[in-house]
Amino acid sequence: MTLNTPPNQPDRPASNRPDNVVWHEGAVSRELRRAKLGATGCTLWMTGLSGSGKSTIASALEAALIERGVFAYRLDGDNVRHGLNANLGFGADDRAENIRRVGEVAKLFADAGVVAVTSFISPYRADRARVRKLHAAAGLPFLEVFVDTPIEVCESRDPKGLYKKARAGEIKGFTGIDDPYEAPESPEVTLPTADESVAQSVERCLAAIEGVRAS
Ligand code: ADP
Repeated sequence: MTLNTPPNQPDRPASNRPDNVVWHEGAVSRELRRAKLGATGCTLWMTGLSGSGKSTIASALEAALIERGVFAYRLDGDNVRHGLNANLGFGADDRAENIRRVGEVAKLFADAGVVAVTSFISPYRADRARVRKLHAAAGLPFLEVFVDTPIEVCESRDPKGLYKKARAGEIKGFTGIDDPYEAPESPEVTLPTADESVAQSVERCLAAIEGVRAS
């Protein structure tokens, strides 16, 4: 039996998929969705150290988009770990699975015409590259946003007291302390939050989103 493989098939080997799982094409194309609903989706993926400002900027950005009448939805690292990814920890495999799942969810939102705004540390380049590839395969815009805040600044902010705990050895495998953070090599947007306000960061994200939605 041949598998009916869609263009946006997940990067899981077909051999792992049961033979009786067949892609079902819907009756609504992306063009029709866009024409009827006026909604053009994309994913804006924030990455950066804990305390760099991802959640703060993502919240303000989501509010600014909704204010402008743009369908937008925020997927937040901590929030997702309360539900969808409640069974995942912080080891390398679980971090990878965390990002894989969120990448799939963001892609579904983007396909539905929503601007998906994600805020996850997502420290590993390979995990982010996989999400980018997933979007490219589906023909959906993907904007990688590097929330570029030096670790000294993040640590001095320490909004959740996590650096203090990590330094005290109460948290193991903390990104930037005893687990690596692999900075993006060519992000679409870089936000140096030590030198710019939340409002400025939001403006630059809005401009990038407008750019891909208009094209
Ligand atoms: P993250 O989601 O990356 O862990 P948070 O958004 O939870 O980070 O915390 C960032 C902290 O830094 C907040 O307390 C926020 O008010 C503060 N902050 C100060 N200046 C900025 C800025 N320019 N951009 C974003 N956050 C900032």
